[in-house]
Amino acid sequence: ADMRHLPYFCRGEVVKGFGRGSKELGIPTANFSEQVVESFPSDISTGIYYGWACVGHGDVHKMVLSIGWNPFYKNIKKSVETHIIHTFKEDFYGEILSIVIIGYIRPEKNFDSLEALISAIQEDIEEAKRQLDLPEHLKLKEDNFFHLPEGKTVNSH
Ligand code: ADP
Ligand code: MG
Repeated sequence: ADMRHLPYFCRGEVVKGFGRGSKELGIPTANFSEQVVESFPSDISTGIYYGWACVGHGDVHKMVLSIGWNPFYKNIKKSVETHIIHTFKEDFYGEILSIVIIGYIRPEKNFDSLEALISAIQEDIEEAKRQLDLPEHLKLKEDNFFHLPEGKTVNSH
C-alpha cells in the first residue's frame, strides 16, 4: 500500500452510514460524509488503518479505520469509517470527528463467515492498540490538531 499520504489529518461531520449493522456486531463505525471522503487523496489505498480520533472537544482515543468501496454508490465511491476504541454512552451523529490516520494494517478482504470477519477486526484492534503505544505514534495524540480552538484549524495538513 501507498503510505505517502500518512500521517493524514482530517475532520468532518459524522453521518448516517449504510446500516450494515456494525453496531450489532459490537463494532460501530462513524461514517464521514461524502464531501469529506471526496477531499481524501484519490490514490489513498483502501484497507484498514490505525490512528487517533476525537469527537467534538472530547478526549483523544485510539481508533481503527477502514477506507473501502461504498456499496451505496455501486462501489464507485469510497467510504471512510472510524471505529473508536472506546465505549461511548451515546451515539454522536452530527458531531465533528477529528482523526489522524497514522499507519496501514491490511488490505480489504472478504470473509467466509461473520465469525471470521469479527475475529479479523478484533485482531486489527489489537494491532492498532500495540502500534499506538509506540512513542513515535503516541506523540501524535498530543498534536495541536486535536487541541486548537474551533476556527483556528484547517481541514487537513
Ligand atoms: P452507521 O451505518 O450509521 O454508520 P453503525 O452501526 O456503523 O451505523 O454505528 C455508527 C454510529 O455509532 C456512529 O455514527 C456513532 O454515532 C455511534 N458510535 C458509538 N460508539 C462508537 C464508537 N466507539 N466508534 C464509532 N462510532 C460509535
Ligand atoms: Mg458505520
